Amino acid sequence: MPELPEVETVVRQLSQTLPGRRILEVEVIHPDLLREASESFRRDIRGSKIQSVGRRGKNILLALSGPRFLSVNLGMTGQLLIAPHPGGIGEGGSLGTPPHPVVLFTLDPPGSLLFADTRRFGCLRLWTPEAWEAESARLGPEPLDRGLTPRDFHRLLARSRSPIRSWLLDQTHIVGIGNIYASEVLFRVGIHPKRPARSVDRIESGRLLKAVRAVLTEAIRARGTTLRDFRTATGDRGAFEPSLQAYGRAGMPCPRCNTPIERIVFGNRSAFFCPCCQPLEYREKA
Ligand SMILES: [Zn+2]
Repeated sequence: MPELPEVETVVRQLSQTLPGRRILEVEVIHPDLLREASESFRRDIRGSKIQSVGRRGKNILLALSGPRFLSVNLGMTGQLLIAPHPGGIGEGGSLGTPPHPVVLFTLDPPGSLLFADTRRFGCLRLWTPEAWEAESARLGPEPLDRGLTPRDFHRLLARSRSPIRSWLLDQTHIVGIGNIYASEVLFRVGIHPKRPARSVDRIESGRLLKAVRAVLTEAIRARGTTLRDFRTATGDRGAFEPSLQAYGRAGMPCPRCNTPIERIVFGNRSAFFCPCCQPLEYREKA
């Protein structure tokens, strides 16, 4: 599932080519991924100009003239692909034939933007600036935003009894982190995924925030992790997978101590950890 580094990779690529271009036509192939009727979706977007491309959490955000925001959530298997020429996606196009097209935008100067999604958990949604602002306020802080201080971060953790892994995945606590990077981050700092968030003390939380930033930054540099479905906006695979130290490595030796990595499932999701480097014991606060 695409997380912050994958979404940021797509956003950076789209930012180089989309701003200033006009959306001439919108073809809705699978209206079930839209949050509104496809006719009004088309009508509201056709003719608008793309002003900028940004990211909030795991959402790609296109600022359109109007003004409106178009949010694209990649869900599990979504891909937002750019092709230099109209009809450039599909047969004979630069990207080959992507599976399961959902919406195709035709652009001017000429080009196409395609949203494709095999498992169809993705979502496209139009917002007025006010509605988007309210939605954005519902989400937690951006982990790479330096405005989030170690002190604030610790204060947020201290409020919750949730297991730290579940806390990190909750987008209302902090945005952008999913299953892969939660396992990686907790491995780096030696914190067991089931420890209650509030048991993470001030020193540990400082190290945790640093690890979150380091892992996400390294993964962005590698253009994200492709386990199977993720593709960048140009259809390429992310290159971070070989750098994963815990995620997906059950039974393989811990890179630090050689103990086999374990996989546990809770909250319906797998967590990978080293039972030796990430003990469950912690000092209960008085
Ligand atoms: Zn270990």
